[in-house]
Amino acid sequence: MTRKELLLMTAPLRDSVEIPYHDIGPGLSPPEIALVAALHGDEINGTYILARLADFLRCVEAGKFPDLTLRKRVLIIPAVNVMGINTRSRSWPFDKNDLNRMFPGSPHGETTQRIAYAVLEATKKARYRVDIHSSSADFEELPQVRVYYPTDAEKEGARRFGLTAIMERRPGPVFSTTLMNSWKVWPGESYLLTVGHAGNIQLNHCQDVFKALVTFLGRTGILEGVTLDEGDYGVFYFTRGHEARVYAEQAGMFVSDSRVGRWVNKGQELGYIYDSFNGNVHTKVEAPVTGLLTGIRRQPLLFEGELLLRVCTKEPNTLP
Ligand SMILES: [Zn+2]
Repeated sequence: MTRKELLLMTAPLRDSVEIPYHDIGPGLSPPEIALVAALHGDEINGTYILARLADFLRCVEAGKFPDLTLRKRVLIIPAVNVMGINTRSRSWPFDKNDLNRMFPGSPHGETTQRIAYAVLEATKKARYRVDIHSSSADFEELPQVRVYYPTDAEKEGARRFGLTAIMERRPGPVFSTTLMNSWKVWPGESYLLTVGHAGNIQLNHCQDVFKALVTFLGRTGILEGVTLDEGDYGVFYFTRGHEARVYAEQAGMFVSDSRVGRWVNKGQELGYIYDSFNGNVHTKVEAPVTGLLTGIRRQPLLFEGELLLRVCTKEPNTLP
């Protein structure tokens, strides 16, 4: 198996640190698709998904799936923050920098700036670009495609993953320093996938996203021979106007067995906030609207004002 090196960094002692990547399939530069995960080292779902995808595509190349043919070049970086993965750290461990606040980076800057630059250079000219993240360890997100200032091609193209939720996000002030923002100035399509929560692997979400990526490769003609579902029935495009969020009115312990991806009715019980001392229920948490449960808090310890859950409606709602 060929293993290429995106960047090699010497360390004060011990061995050098390298960021490896997969370069699979036929075709010259640029790659048709570039997939990136673990800019944040504790977001393990993406690394698992991309490592498995690379293995799958290598098997396709080796002829182990006779019905499938890889038609175009695919570039996969399963873990950008290699040191973060090694130390279970979101940031780059040496200087605590957030790699997704370092773009566009610089070839002459400090380590994280050089990493950002190398990632951008390797991926920016790909026709399709996918950056995989998870939410924090405290909040579980339904696997979803996120688009930022989307072009019409991206609005339509996001449906090719076949994931239930496409979320159009209005970026915050830090967006200008992210990989997504640096990609957006280049021709092509850019997508961010948010998968579950950080800290461990949620296998059901990873399996859904693996299937979504294979579906995307099939629908774009990168991978030929994929059995595809007809149409995009069951895919919903949500803007901020479709979202209803519930915040904690009181501190306590939030406990819920509700699962993301379920359609819920307005008023349906989705969890409880207990008094941490005497165990009494002091708040019954209900769905604020009828819709899809796209995110829910998994950290029970709760302060007043923290986000508990998000439900997205099929039609834009009128809530503030
Ligand atoms: Zn992230």
